[in-house]
This record gives sequence, structure tokens and C-alpha cells, in this order.
Amino acid sequence: VTYFPAADRYADMIYRRAGRSGLKLPAISLGLWHNFGAGRPADRQADIVRRAFDLGVTHFDLANNYGPPPGSAETNFGRILAADFRAHRDEMIISTKAGYTMWDGPYGDWGSRKYLVSSLDQSLQRMGLDYVDVFYHHRPDPETPLEETMSALDAIVRSGKALYVGISNYKSTQAAQAAGILRELGTPLLIHQPSYSILNRWIEHDRLLDTLEDAGAGCIAFSPLQQGLLTDRYLTGIPDDSRIRTSVFLNESALDGKTLARLHALNDIAKRRGQTLAQLALAWALRDQRMTSLIIGASSVPQLENNVAALNNLSLDQSELDEIDATVLD
Ligand code: NDP
Repeated sequence: VTYFPAADRYADMIYRRAGRSGLKLPAISLGLWHNFGAGRPADRQADIVRRAFDLGVTHFDLANNYGPPPGSAETNFGRILAADFRAHRDEMIISTKAGYTMWDGPYGDWGSRKYLVSSLDQSLQRMGLDYVDVFYHHRPDPETPLEETMSALDAIVRSGKALYVGISNYKSTQAAQAAGILRELGTPLLIHQPSYSILNRWIEHDRLLDTLEDAGAGCIAFSPLQQGLLTDRYLTGIPDDSRIRTSVFLNESALDGKTLARLHALNDIAKRRGQTLAQLALAWALRDQRMTSLIIGASSVPQLENNVAALNNLSLDQSELDEIDATVLD
């Protein structure tokens, strides 16, 4: 069936500027880490991407290793792009990354120029693209000089294979160093991608948003729903089709009694606000304007719709914020 995007796709989405760059991102972005690998029905994958675009979600986040198996999310996304989005490439922000293990041997991992350049070439081929909008170094490499990794990002932009560059999973101190090197090279850091949620506050202790503000870079948080814990998914048991049952990346041990009690208490706050727990978690993670966007995952269209509808009520007053803190902080 031919896909025609919704005419009103830009009516309701909120777009926030990434740091002091020229680029705006939707407050909710779609990530393809899970739900787009082998064994997930192709029509459901396409439906999720189409619905996202119809709702103004212009940004799609990938990485070389997403699947499983590694690479399959990019291949599947490439198929969706070719079938449905040929006419809309200039309306889309497509990101990919390299930094985790992708192929055997010394050149398929970490942060060398050799790995980054060849990995991006492979990603472009899998997605059928000439360039990505954002290319990330996926995690810091303790052995490769930061200058080499950053100059590889700069060279990739100059080669035309990426428009902007980002870093992910870097602590504040290293992020500031990376941003400084990139600035000198003439390719400013667009954005940093850390994990962040009501249950995962490390960027607050690390003062990462202050660091990024100083650097002029944006911030885009991943797993704002704590991989599905901060939703109604697990409030009454563990469904067979849930990430805990279907992925190696989320374990039943994450759902201990203390966490479950916290999720129920947060769910009560959400209900009082007329929201779902997922919507409360997203509104909370967007409360600082310096948070450019949140990358959510969705295994179905209704989940995606539920998450985007969080934007209908983003306001949280101080007493609600205090109550959330009292619920989850020891
Ligand atoms: P989330 O925290 O948003 O978790 C997504 C999962 O939560 C879904 O797959 C689904 O789980 C469940 N869910 C989502 N919405 C709802 C809802 N409304 N109601 C009920 N359940 C819901 O994010 P992810 O962990 O998926 O990460 C998002 C993206 O972030 C990734 O795709 C990737 O692009 C990026 N990322 C980047 C990393 C990095 O190192 N840079 C690391 C990890 C992620 P279920 O399958 O059980 O239905």
C-alpha cells in the first residue's frame, strides 16, 4: 500500500533547537535499537516509522550494531526508506553511530579513524543513503587518543557523509574535551546522547547539561522510559512479548520489589495528572529546556502514540517534582 504522509504532520509536534546549532529536533525522537531487527514483522516496523513521521517525529536514531543481528535494523530501515520515504529525505534527520563491537578483529570496535570511517560506509550502504544527518561516536575509547576520534568525525563531515557529529555515553569532563577539539577543527559538536530517566540520574550528578550548554551542544537522552520499566508494561506482571522476556538487554532482576513499589507510586502520580506513567516519565525528562529531545523505543503503534501524546501536558510543578524525587531517591 502506497504511503502518503499526513498533511498535518507538523501541526502539533514541539521542536527544540540542539544547543546553539541551526538544527531543531522533535522533542520525541524514535530509536531503532529494539523492535526493528530480524523476527519483528516488516509491516509492523513500517507502520511504526510511518506513524512517527505522521506525528511530526522527524528524527530516527540508529547505530551500526542495532538488530539483532547487528546491522539488521539499518537494513530494515533502509527498506522502509526506499519504499515510503524517497520523496521525504530532506524532511528527515537520520542518525547512526559506531563505537561498540561490530565486526571481528582490531578494526571493528572502539574509536579509531579506521573503524569509524569504514563503519559509516557500511551503515550508508545498509540504509541505501548517501549521507546521514548525525554521526556519533557511540562510547568513549580509553585507548585511542581523543584527537584521533574527533578528527575522524571532522573528516567524515568534510567528506559529505555526515552533516553533523555527536558523542554518546561520554562523561562531562571528556565531553568538554571532545567539544573543544571539535571546535578547533571547525566541526562543532552538535549533540551528546546520554542515558537519562527518573530512575537514572547520572547526568545530574555529572552536571552534563551545564557542560553541554557551555559547549553550545544539545542533549538527547536515550531510554527515558528505562527500557519500558517506566510504563504500565510491568505493573501487573511480565508480559510474554515484553523486553524483559524478549531481549538480553533487560533482565527480570531489574524489577525487584522496591522498584515495583516505586513504579506503582509514580503511576499514581501520573493518574492524578490524567497521564500514563510513560507520559509522566517523558514530561519529567523534558522539564529542562536544554534537553533537546528524548529517544524513545516503541514495539507498537499505540505505544508510540501514547508517548508522543506526553507533549500535551509537559508542565510539572515543584510539588510534583519533589514528590517524584521522594518516591525514587533513597
Ligand atoms: P525506552 O526507555 O523508551 O524503552 C522502550 C520500550 O519501552 C519499548 O520497546 C517498549 O517495550 C516500552 N514502551 C515504550 N513506550 C511504551 C508505552 N507507551 N507503554 C508501554 N510500554 C512502552 O527506550 P529504549 O531503551 O528502547 O531506547 C530508545 C533508543 O535510544 C534506542 O532505540 C536507541 O536509538 C537509543 N539508545 C542509545 C544508546 C546509546 O548507547 N547511545 C543505548 C540505548 C538506547 P516492549 O518491547 O516491552 O513493548
